Amino acid sequence: MVEFTHVINNLKLSSNLWPQRPFLSIEMSMQTLSVVGRLRNCGLLKTRGLIGGKWTDAYDGRTIQVNNPADGEVIATVPCMGEMETKDAISAAYDAFTHWSKLTAADRSSRLRNWYNLLIAHKQEIGQLLTLEQGKPLREAIAEPVGVVGAITPWNFPIAMIARKVGPALACGCTVVIKPSELTPLTALAAAELALQSGIPPGVLNVVMGDPPSIGDSLLESTQVRKITFTGSTGVGKKLMAGASETVKKVSLELGGNAPCIIFDDADLELAVKGSLSTKFNNTGQQCVCTNRILVQEGIYDRFINAYSNAVQNLKVGNGLSEGVTQGPLINEAAVMKVDSLVQDAISKGAKVIMGGKRHSLGFSFYEPTIIGDVRNEMPIAREEVFGPVAPIIRFKTEEEAIQIANDTNSGLAAYAFTNCIQRSWRVSEALEYGMVGVNEGSISTEVAPFGGYKQSGLGREGSKYGLDDYLEIKYVCMGNM
Ligand code: NAD
Repeated sequence: MVEFTHVINNLKLSSNLWPQRPFLSIEMSMQTLSVVGRLRNCGLLKTRGLIGGKWTDAYDGRTIQVNNPADGEVIATVPCMGEMETKDAISAAYDAFTHWSKLTAADRSSRLRNWYNLLIAHKQEIGQLLTLEQGKPLREAIAEPVGVVGAITPWNFPIAMIARKVGPALACGCTVVIKPSELTPLTALAAAELALQSGIPPGVLNVVMGDPPSIGDSLLESTQVRKITFTGSTGVGKKLMAGASETVKKVSLELGGNAPCIIFDDADLELAVKGSLSTKFNNTGQQCVCTNRILVQEGIYDRFINAYSNAVQNLKVGNGLSEGVTQGPLINEAAVMKVDSLVQDAISKGAKVIMGGKRHSLGFSFYEPTIIGDVRNEMPIAREEVFGPVAPIIRFKTEEEAIQIANDTNSGLAAYAFTNCIQRSWRVSEALEYGMVGVNEGSISTEVAPFGGYKQSGLGREGSKYGLDDYLEIKYVCMGNM
């Protein structure tokens, strides 16, 4: 109660200082209130878009709600922006480009470093922030920044995806209009506030959110926007790629995956269980690099299923703010319905539920951690991105068969293999048609390695030195007879 009174007093005090419209739901839980209170106190709960350094409402006053997926409570309202606001954000970014791109690489680098420091200093308040990439000095003699960049990001990693795009873009001298997912705009706005505090000039980084097609179309139609960088579903990525052709923009796409995780007979069982558990169940299965199919060789099948079931049994489902919880809710009820329909379809076609297989007793957006055996690769559950806490298991006999099943998909983002044979490690990682392969390792993502996919999983790479390439133009100048 003391803590609650303290939170309320803090909220009251900070709301007097806060010039924005009231947004708190009176039914908010104490846990949520405490997080919101801390965010407000440090000025990181922004509920307006950012255009040319000014916090801005939608011009027609429309708003959208941001909900907590654990219980549906409204935690904020943000503007529902569209064409007009996006055009103004593009103009602001275009104007800012002239100055920003002329700064030295060292100057941009030091401001990006300030931003990084601020994000790290506030990581408790704004949740799990992934490390921002440091701006590196560029050899400007051979490369020029492309110009204004439109960055469209998904809900499943609301800040990491922005870091991956905005870090290299700003380092190269580009300016950016970000469109975060309407489901999770608050971390993007908090990051933008810290960017302003770090000395990144107004207009260099702008944030608009609201109506995705009208914001997307405005970015695509503008001749001032020279590049679209997108992370999200393959369907939306294809639309953006088609739309970008009209003005011949550069396009980077980080799209959906259908990752296989192959467990060979000669694998270290403990390592295989640990690795395949994390690649399947991290973020409640809502990652593009999440294992979508576990392929298990027949000699280890029963032992693996036993050990894996024990491990899955120990996962703790609940509100992500509660101590010890390892499995949060899915993003919304529609996601739960999609996961459940894939599971029920697989069961109707002969797959067997080993564990779970239904909505969780916690209700709302929760689904039971699930293992399904006897899955075949032609079933929809093995062809679509499940994006939930469901592990479909496919049995195989030979290495060749495993490679054939693993590659039998239009996706090619991440793949995993567990084996103790070094020759097999090389053979398999070369044969897998995937942009990223983890061998005896379930956690492959790092800012120093190139992240991206083959086939319909996308175009271009983010992270590492390759992540800078798409934000630069190469110019050849031939000076003769001087
Ligand atoms: P989504 O494609 O539905 O949405 C992504 C973003 O696009 C959101 O900001 C959304 O508002 C916007 N959008 C939707 N329609 C649009 C339109 N017509 N014009 C412009 N913008 C539009 O994806 P999601 O559900 O937010 O995220 C999940 C998907 O993202 C999964 O498929 C996942 O695999 C993928 N993903 C890929 C990576 C990667 O690096 N490859 C990383 C994370 C997520």
